[in-house]
Amino acid sequence: MSDLSLYNTLSRSKEIFKPINDDQVGLYTCGPTVYNYAHLGNLRTYVFEDLLKRVLAYNGYKVKHVMNITDVGHLTGDMDMGEDKLELSARREAKSAWEIAEFYTEAFKRDLMALNITEPSVWCKATDHISEQVALISALEEKGFTYLTSDGVYFDTSKVTDYNKLSHLPLAELKEGARVEKNAEKKNATDFALWKFSGVSLDKSENSQRQMEWDSPWGVGFPGWHLECSAMSLKYLTGSLDIHCGGIDHINIHHTNEIAQSESATGLKFFNYWLHGAFLNIAGGKKMAKSEDNFLTLDKAIIARNIKPLVYRYACLAVHYRKPMEYSEEMMTGASNSLEHLYHQVSDLGLDKSEINALFREKFVVCINDDLNLPQALAIVQELLKSDLSPSEKLATVLDFDQVLGLGLDQLVNVPQEVVDLANSRRQAKIDKDWARADELRGYIEAKGYQIKDLPSDNFSLIAKDK
Ligand code: AMP
Ligand code: ZN
Repeated sequence: MSDLSLYNTLSRSKEIFKPINDDQVGLYTCGPTVYNYAHLGNLRTYVFEDLLKRVLAYNGYKVKHVMNITDVGHLTGDMDMGEDKLELSARREAKSAWEIAEFYTEAFKRDLMALNITEPSVWCKATDHISEQVALISALEEKGFTYLTSDGVYFDTSKVTDYNKLSHLPLAELKEGARVEKNAEKKNATDFALWKFSGVSLDKSENSQRQMEWDSPWGVGFPGWHLECSAMSLKYLTGSLDIHCGGIDHINIHHTNEIAQSESATGLKFFNYWLHGAFLNIAGGKKMAKSEDNFLTLDKAIIARNIKPLVYRYACLAVHYRKPMEYSEEMMTGASNSLEHLYHQVSDLGLDKSEINALFREKFVVCINDDLNLPQALAIVQELLKSDLSPSEKLATVLDFDQVLGLGLDQLVNVPQEVVDLANSRRQAKIDKDWARADELRGYIEAKGYQIKDLPSDNFSLIAKDK
């Protein structure tokens, strides 16, 4: 099999992937902040991460995938200013912050399922890991990386020599970006909060009525957002810190700070590979964001309009994860037509499977192993389906590819045995020229929710009516 190469944001180049342990991969993906529904942009990133995970598995690796749920500490401002997003939603919806977290976590899990995104091996919530986060701050304090201000404990970024190694931006530029939100007590514009005190808010937000707060050696408060991902990845992926992912908006602040605090606390390299997905934009290149009015959810934009969620997955597959993707109704119509066409092509292969074709498998692997080139892999799928291989060989091969694509192709051929039996009886009736019986059997098949289509050589395909 060809080597798997992945584009590493750390080196800004494609690298041959080598895990720390032979056949095991530790994968950490930053999860949702559960104060609202995930939007299609967020979901694009989770589809990309799912493809990565499936490609790793296809290459024979056992993947331990950890995803966090941010249920505390993510403030409305990037640089430790503003209000906790969970507490703000709780007030807006007149619920407790805990209820908000639970409600949107469940909604998020439903979205993942609808998009055929495989669940992580470990789900972990920030609020369940307060002691781990406090311990990390203590380790940093002991090594002299922290200082106190009136509103919290801060990380001193000037103590880290390679603070910009992920962003590759001159420090002055990072500081410029950070300075937008002023905090006069910070020593450096890029410094960030590890622990924020309850009831103290430099920008007069309503931090004093917090529902989520804990005791700590520094005072009652809550952890800074970046801290949870460090604490939980170090806990669950000890000894296999291979790949860490997120959207590109996380490079300059969130992931940069995760690296700074983790490496300062442990003295060891934090993850080896950092992969970032490009944005889903809307109307003229504007990023889809929860803070903007342009945010579309899977429920409202897709499911409520009778579009299959997997059409959105297909649309994501058709654009390389490092290229911006533009959302539009035309784009979705195009993806819907392509997916329907694929479903028909696969259904028309009948139900018999033979061997996986080695040549096409190799072509497919070359694409997916070239930094997840799924658009090219979809082209190989078409090349396969239009080739002169036998239908049974095509079927075996395309179903094998679907372990990576995740487009639900197996559903097309997993027809209940009783329906297959009816179809076989109908075939016999047709051979016997008993047309009345053949029609009667078609009626039974349709009543069971399947459409039967005749193929050459007395063969047939069966398609579930809702497919
Ligand atoms: P959040 O819930 O805001 O923490 O974001 C969850 C994930 O979605 C993160 O990995 C973000 O980088 C990613 N993300 C946010 N906006 C977009 C977008 N418009 N397109 C793609 N990914 C996004
Ligand atoms: Zn994170």
